[in-house]
Amino acid sequence: MAIDPVCKMEVDEATAAATSEFEGQTYYFCAPGCKKVFDAEPKKYLSAAKTQ
Ligand SMILES: [Zn+2]
Repeated sequence: MAIDPVCKMEVDEATAAATSEFEGQTYYFCAPGCKKVFDAEPKKYLSAAKTQ
């Protein structure tokens, strides 16, 4: 599972509502709205988005 960096929800990579690539890393979102927020200001959310 990945963590939605915006709302911190767990998101299944296979069924994520939206994804975004930033600096070579893929981020997964629970909803298109979260992707939109992330894309507008990705750096604000990156420190919380450490997924292994
Ligand atoms: Zn979300």
